[in-house]
Amino acid sequence: MNFFLVFQNKSYKEERNGRYLWAPQKNNTGQTYHHWTDMKMIKKEDIIFNSYNGKLVSVLVAKENCKEHERPTGLDELDLWEKEGWLVNVDYNDLEEPITYKDYMEDILKLQNEKYAPFNRLGRGNTGYLFRVSKELANFFFEIIEKTNSVLRERFQFENSIPEEIITQIESDLHSATTLDETEKETIIKSRIGHSAFKKSLLAVEKKCKVCGITDERFLIASHIKPWSKSSNHERLDVNNGLLLCPNHDALFDKSYISFDETGKVMVKESLDDTTKILFNINETMRIVMNERQQQYMKWHRDNFLNS
Ligand SMILES: [Zn+2]
Repeated sequence: MNFFLVFQNKSYKEERNGRYLWAPQKNNTGQTYHHWTDMKMIKKEDIIFNSYNGKLVSVLVAKENCKEHERPTGLDELDLWEKEGWLVNVDYNDLEEPITYKDYMEDILKLQNEKYAPFNRLGRGNTGYLFRVSKELANFFFEIIEKTNSVLRERFQFENSIPEEIITQIESDLHSATTLDETEKETIIKSRIGHSAFKKSLLAVEKKCKVCGITDERFLIASHIKPWSKSSNHERLDVNNGLLLCPNHDALFDKSYISFDETGKVMVKESLDDTTKILFNINETMRIVMNERQQQYMKWHRDNFLNS
């Protein structure tokens, strides 16, 4: 599932009445823009956050894949664009309480993608129609919606867990391996999870090392915040108990040489000397963004870090 955000200012009323989104293929001088052509990416069931006057006012669900479609008659009066365009029919789910982006801008800017993002660095909406929303930002929007609009949250509950078979499989494989000690077992579990559904579902949420931003998936490790051996089955599968990390940062995190405080700021063991820190690409100014559930797991990790 993909997420988008649409700034519907000029055409809000018409599109809302018609329950569709429409963008032209070109303007009247023949130019086209990604914020129009991205319409083609919208598939059935995708979610589009609907913005009007600086507020999130509605959550739209695509009823179909995007299709080529002439400008609907409702938009003719605006007469701003060529007739050829892209159209998606959508369901509108209005928020009981619209959300003012400005109130959450600091977090929004941290969570949105770098490219094709809805807001610029100053926190203003970019000029254009349709923009891409990262899964992290979508989750964040849903967290705010949950607080203020209980009905909607239930409708859009995320499927955040992964199949239980994965655990059963790993455990049954290791059951017979009586020659391995606990540390060796954990190492095997970790490498198995490295290319498992757990990593897949983590990758769906955050495509890079949470600390340094390395994006090459081949080197990313799905690390448990609260270790596998200490976790319940539910916690082992909970994506919120996962951090995607590069090998360096995984090693530091796994062995509790680093952890993160309540604000997401990195905490570094004093025993690491400056050269090691430089070579491992870690310094005290680094910061990560966590949701509430990740925070709870991180508290476990932090306590362990402080006591070790
Ligand atoms: Zn890293």
